Amino acid sequence: MYRSHNCGELNASHINKEVTLAGWVQKSRDKGFIVWVDLRDRYGLTQLVFDEERTSKSMLEQAQNLGREFVVQVKGTVIERASKNPNIPTGDIELLVSELIILNEALLPPFTIEDKTDGGEELRMKYRYLDIRRNPLKNNLIFRHKVVQEVRNYLSKEGFIEVETPYLIKSTPEGARDFVVPSRMNAGQFYALPQSPQTFKQLLMVGGMDKYFQIVKCFRDEDLRADRQPEFTQIDCEMAFIEQEDILNAFEGLTRHLLKEVNGVEVEKFPRMLYDEAMRLYGNDKPDIRFGMEFCPLAPKEENFGFPVFDGAELVVGINVEGCADYTRKQMDELVDWVKRPQIGATGLIWIKYNEDGTLTSSVNKFFDEDYLRYFATEMKAKAGDLMLVLAGNTHKVRTQLSSLRMELATRLGLRNPKEFAPLWVLDFPLLEWDEDTKRYHAMHHPFTSPKPGQMELLKTDPGTVKANAYDLVLNGNEIGGGSIRIHDKATQALMFDYLGFTPQQAKAQFGFLMDAFQYGAPPHGGLAFGLDRLVAILGGQETIRDFIAFPKNNAGRDVMIDAPATIDTAQLNELHLKIEL
Ligand code: ASP
Repeated sequence: MYRSHNCGELNASHINKEVTLAGWVQKSRDKGFIVWVDLRDRYGLTQLVFDEERTSKSMLEQAQNLGREFVVQVKGTVIERASKNPNIPTGDIELLVSELIILNEALLPPFTIEDKTDGGEELRMKYRYLDIRRNPLKNNLIFRHKVVQEVRNYLSKEGFIEVETPYLIKSTPEGARDFVVPSRMNAGQFYALPQSPQTFKQLLMVGGMDKYFQIVKCFRDEDLRADRQPEFTQIDCEMAFIEQEDILNAFEGLTRHLLKEVNGVEVEKFPRMLYDEAMRLYGNDKPDIRFGMEFCPLAPKEENFGFPVFDGAELVVGINVEGCADYTRKQMDELVDWVKRPQIGATGLIWIKYNEDGTLTSSVNKFFDEDYLRYFATEMKAKAGDLMLVLAGNTHKVRTQLSSLRMELATRLGLRNPKEFAPLWVLDFPLLEWDEDTKRYHAMHHPFTSPKPGQMELLKTDPGTVKANAYDLVLNGNEIGGGSIRIHDKATQALMFDYLGFTPQQAKAQFGFLMDAFQYGAPPHGGLAFGLDRLVAILGGQETIRDFIAFPKNNAGRDVMIDAPATIDTAQLNELHLKIEL
């Protein structure tokens, strides 16, 4: 038996007990005649004590030679500590060691394995297994486990069946590039790794499974924007014989369950907002509604503003930042510079201060007198003490820029409390999205999404305006899930592929199996998928998904611990009928 107890459970009730512990040496304090060692395992820390009087000289010497992260087994008696540590559960006791066995020695770790570490991110990624010994990462993994268990509990209780779908498949377009796997047995042919199990879960509906879920890895080969991973986990779900309302209720239920069980937070019915409204009010399809600062479009009092920047713009829009009229010149200059950074790309920022004394001043005093500024203030519902910020230009760009500014200000003003949860459904996404590069429309969600009833015709005349039966679940300004009601008949699906620029041959080659299945009695169906990594991070009150993944990749898509991807040898290439040309 390696241990009778773990390192986190001994307390005053165990005093005088003989116990055996095993774990890692976190650190020691050597006073010459007495040595204290902190012994760590997943459950906590227990202080060991060795001294020449109460134990033996040889034991003391052995203890003095213990290095950090040595793996040891100790036997001894639990005794009361002279100076107690109220900060840890084992702080009242220590273990007077009578026997010490070194199970394994350890090299000096490249960084300190304590809550506060001296190791930088790169180094900790390389030695991820050491980082996992530290509380921050360990606790995140335990937290993730809890969320996953609750997901399984809830969905199983609701009658969902977890079904595994294959990883070696054919392309499923979800808007990214596929990772491909060469087939040895089928020379010159490739599998694609699933960007999601989308087509399979639809086939499960045709197969009569009715309610499906899966906690599943998905793979997308895209240039890694901040905090994305090439392989990530979804809670993937699908239901048959449902309407949008059924889906929203089912997964609102799951989210509410998680918030309650994991965070102890009860949330009212989730608000809903149309996509168009989200764009108009927040410039963003995943608005953070923990705070206001909504967009206010501005129109001239009369025919025009008499200010070329505004008059030449497609959209003039502002936000009112409460209580910030006292920003100094320096603070204002810094904000203007912030929006002009290439990442944001605004050409300038107009500000209007509604001073505490009731006067109004602005960066555009030359063009607008105080009366006009007061008109802006009324439009933006500003009051004395507030700061109004206005951007003008191309609608899409201005919305994106002002949305970033809104989030930045909220962060600076402490309005984004990670312990507060503001879920939101965003409904009626556009079916299609214009792609400047290919000069074509693409499915905004994926090609299996159904248009809103009666809008199929519009596809021919005004495709950009067609709305889809598609919805996203947003939590604190992050998209945590998204899905749609699917097309479930062959003719409509074929038409959709046609609109998306597939020839009938291409559609058949890529998705013939799905359209064939639709001919054998496909029920109406729909579903959604949650991004598990992000969901867990947000519930955990943090932002970086990497911190909730045991072995993540870096921004270049590399696993620096195992050093992947890597080259393969010629024999292996030959077997796969591949030649490398760089
Ligand atoms: N497969 C979709 C996705 O990965 C989710 C869905 O439509 O259910 O975003």
